[in-house]
Amino acid sequence: MQWKEQILTLSPYQPGKSTDSVKRQYGLEKIVKLASNENPYGCSEQVLAALQNSVQSLEIYPDGHATNLREAVAKQLQVEPNQLIFGNGSDNIIQIISRSLLTPGTNTVMATPTFSQYKHNAVIEGAEVREIPLVNGEHDLASMLAAIDTQTKIVWVCSPNNPTGIYIGEDSLLNFLKQVPENVLVVFDEAYFEYVTAEDYIDSVKLVNTFKNLIVLRTFSKIYGLASLRVGYGIANPAVISALEPVREPFNVNTLAQVAAEAAIKDQAFVEDCKQKNRKGLEQFYQFCQDHNLEYYPSQGNFILIDFKRDGNEVFQYLMERGYIVRSGKPLGFPTAVRVTVGTTEQNDGVIAEMKQMLEVKATSNK
Ligand SMILES: *Cc1c(COP(=O)(O)O)cnc(C)c1O
Repeated sequence: MQWKEQILTLSPYQPGKSTDSVKRQYGLEKIVKLASNENPYGCSEQVLAALQNSVQSLEIYPDGHATNLREAVAKQLQVEPNQLIFGNGSDNIIQIISRSLLTPGTNTVMATPTFSQYKHNAVIEGAEVREIPLVNGEHDLASMLAAIDTQTKIVWVCSPNNPTGIYIGEDSLLNFLKQVPENVLVVFDEAYFEYVTAEDYIDSVKLVNTFKNLIVLRTFSKIYGLASLRVGYGIANPAVISALEPVREPFNVNTLAQVAAEAAIKDQAFVEDCKQKNRKGLEQFYQFCQDHNLEYYPSQGNFILIDFKRDGNEVFQYLMERGYIVRSGKPLGFPTAVRVTVGTTEQNDGVIAEMKQMLEVKATSNK
């Protein structure tokens, strides 16, 4: 077989460890997973009710147009139904966009470190990847603009950025969008949009009418608590959506996922509640970091990147053996940090207690 040369350089995605495998390996009874930015409060009860009523007709293909979900999302966001594209997770939309625009000889611009799938998909398509280092956890938008040339097809912008949690304010974003050439697609990935509390955060959905080369990505995997069902969506000018549609697999969002997502978006009270709880949870981590002089980025997401100034894999291992799965910063581009998803108050207290213990052991052994 002659595989595409570029895929030989890739390894499969390394997901956060599953709780079952860790339980077995370390003989632990209880495992708390704070590794994949999932919602510790699950999902809206209305989702569960909607699913119970719809587990029938499994032999029928899903609605390829996601009509009901489309209407519900359009209503919530106040956009037209033809401004939306749905994916099997927003990962799927990232793949559709990459397949639609990237070929060998083209290039794509993104920050680093950022969400891994932009680069991964670009490599598969054989495009050149131009990675612009973050500055203080923030996108260096000026350098990203400077990296754009006539062969640039896509610029990826992640706000709040995974894994730093840093967001892009209104002025910077507008200033950036005004300068990106019209024939370059800007992908604005807002997987954590619903968690944002910053006051100068712009409602990017309104911008897709002004900037015809902008697509906003959102997901049901994070605050909506539906990661297992895989639903994400893109919002853009109808011309962008109709260009992407032929590249989408016809039945990429399954029936149960459509039913669940539709019920989820209608329950904004659940979203608001989770957002408030997440803020309180972040405060627990900020306090811990301040008490122990640890560097961290103030986060607008449901996770926090903490620099322990020691090997991230070791911190990860230490916490895992004590029942807490976090994400090592090493594969994320921050070798001495870990990324922790904000859990419930109790879960946060639990992992913070283990972190304190770890720091004390280290402090004592240094004497
Ligand atoms: C989690 C995440 C996604 C993927 O979300 P899915 O909808 O589950 O595929 C996309 N972008 C960022 C930045 C994420 O953190």
